[in-house]
Amino acid sequence: MTMDKRDADLELHHRTWAIDGDLYRCRYCQRGCLASKAGEKFIHAGDCTVKDTACDYPWMALAEMTAAVARPHDEVERQRLRAIIENYPNGDPLEFNAAVRKIQQ
Ligand SMILES: [Zn+2]
Repeated sequence: MTMDKRDADLELHHRTWAIDGDLYRCRYCQRGCLASKAGEKFIHAGDCTVKDTACDYPWMALAEMTAAVARPHDEVERQRLRAIIENYPNGDPLEFNAAVRKIQQ
């Protein structure tokens, strides 16, 4: 079974980031960013190995992810099904067929 996008996005995000009280910390360099500074670009340590690949606004990314959590399940599920259909012919044909059937209901 495919992992729910909301869960997958959070899991991926938190491979790099960790909330530590009022801070979002980079797991690699341990630098932190206050929630109140969410709109400022994150500053990693100079030798941080993910400084060029990690997202620049981890709080903003979290806010987008939790907005998806707050939306009604049906809407999120429809978005997931549409993504599977739009991805065709990539992906699992059985999953594609199931998505087409479900979205037509
Ligand atoms: Zn870092």
